[in-house]
Amino acid sequence: MATPAAITVAITGSIPTKANNPAVPVTPEEQVASAVDAIDAGATIVHVHVRDDQQRPSSDVNRYRTVHDGIKHERPDVIVQLSTGGRGRSPDERFSCLEVRPEMASLSTGSVNFATSVYENPPQLVEQQAARMLDLGIKPEIEIFDFAMLYTCVDLLKRGLLAPPPHVQLVMGIKNTLPPKESILDFFLSELRELIPDATWTCAAIGRFQLEANRWALRRGGHVRTGLEDNIYYEKGRLAQSNAELVARLADLCAEYDRYPASPAETRHLLHLNQITAG
Ligand code: ZN
Repeated sequence: MATPAAITVAITGSIPTKANNPAVPVTPEEQVASAVDAIDAGATIVHVHVRDDQQRPSSDVNRYRTVHDGIKHERPDVIVQLSTGGRGRSPDERFSCLEVRPEMASLSTGSVNFATSVYENPPQLVEQQAARMLDLGIKPEIEIFDFAMLYTCVDLLKRGLLAPPPHVQLVMGIKNTLPPKESILDFFLSELRELIPDATWTCAAIGRFQLEANRWALRRGGHVRTGLEDNIYYEKGRLAQSNAELVARLADLCAEYDRYPASPAETRHLLHLNQITAG
């Protein structure tokens, strides 16, 4: 019997600009419109970063609120996940978006070297913000850029700083981090099943491996992520026309693996979001 797969669309991210692909939504209005089209194509979770007027990554809480509320206004059922990531900004700024009380927010449980900077998530910060999300009823998506982050997630869970079961996302293919390899996903899953058997998971990969990783995850019963944050191309040499175009292809792909795109209600049930009231 076909089983549901939750599709996350990462609409904007920190890096791509309109110079890379004119379809990258950067103003709040463009972001809401792009999210709505992607939702209508099959996405149930919208992962959001915001930009400033120069398209640079921003942590402006008002922008976050505008995009969050705009999406919820247009499609009240969908799950909005705000990013607490971001390059070169202080932790206080990065986590200010929690004030918006999204249903989900990203939480990386460790530090990692990106191509030109350290993505800094010291233990105290991770613990504080995990506790804060727990208090606010915000479900974290634990971002795993390196294996230590999985083991830290296990520790946080044991110490009651995460509500069980957690939802984790393996991210592969960012320069200088885990490469996009099916064998790495398999090792990740063997550790995850041993250490947190009831955890739910998504696998994401960057650039041309995005679609490949979608296939790996669908085959293994995981959830999937697409969108212009991770990949601006539809295929080699041809830019994606929109987030919705990438989502539509992924929604169609589900059937090949006896999966189908989860509804918002199914996504909430699968990811144990039911107890949480969207803010
Ligand atoms: Zn992101």
